[in-house]
Amino acid sequence: MSKYIDIAVNLIGSALEKNIDEIIQDAAAQGVSPLIVIGSELDESEQAITCCQQYPQQLFCTAGVHPHHASEWQADSSERVKRLAAFPQVVAIGECGLDYNRDFSPRPMQRKAFEAQLALAVELQMPVLMHERDAHEDFLAILKEYRPALPAALLHCFTGNRQSMQAYLELDLHLGITGWVCDERRGQELAELVTGIPDNRILIETDSPYLLPRSMRPKPKSSKNKPQYLPYISAYIADLRGQNHQEFAQRVYENSVDFFGLNKREDFSLERGEPHEAS
Ligand SMILES: [Zn+2]
Repeated sequence: MSKYIDIAVNLIGSALEKNIDEIIQDAAAQGVSPLIVIGSELDESEQAITCCQQYPQQLFCTAGVHPHHASEWQADSSERVKRLAAFPQVVAIGECGLDYNRDFSPRPMQRKAFEAQLALAVELQMPVLMHERDAHEDFLAILKEYRPALPAALLHCFTGNRQSMQAYLELDLHLGITGWVCDERRGQELAELVTGIPDNRILIETDSPYLLPRSMRPKPKSSKNKPQYLPYISAYIADLRGQNHQEFAQRVYENSVDFFGLNKREDFSLERGEPHEAS
């Protein structure tokens, strides 16, 4: 059985939170483990750490402030993210970035919170997990300043166009692809673009409970996306890229392990999934 890591799961404060045991078990049964839990504001990041502590090796998380919450960014926020990032469960700074699509926070505050978290990732030499929606130019301008000093940078849920993809690849970003790509209406451009992402820069994610892949048949009864659907997304993307399902899954798994530094951890074994191989 192929192994997968879901690099973006909105487990805390979402529709998934009530059934964490079940979510983890159902995912693991499909070879999806560990899950990277997104911290999208400070209290939530703290809860994510507590949750990860209850499921060692099965859950890791990020710590940061999503652009939707950038208006909550305060003078001591950097210090708080830094304290949270010191927990061994935290594998990246974020989710941070810019969202000019919904503008839930004023843009100057979004830029401020984004810059502060990039600076922190540089200081701590940690990978950063980023979000960008309809903010390509400002995002690129800010990121360019910090990128040379960042160890690794991921733009999760990439949904941009060819030009933005090329600019991001030139900055040596990893690009996270969701089930958005399975959407026969709005995912068409992305379906073409995923063929152009280098093998060592592509990651896959559900971004659950959002973005249920629209092409799944039979259609799941609930519109809630779950980490257990990641193998479907993986196979779908592999087909678009003309790659063997298992080889693609293996490559992306290794990319995820490398990106989050899981191979350097004592509590993570690459061989963990092996016993399943025989069954
Ligand atoms: Zn996001």
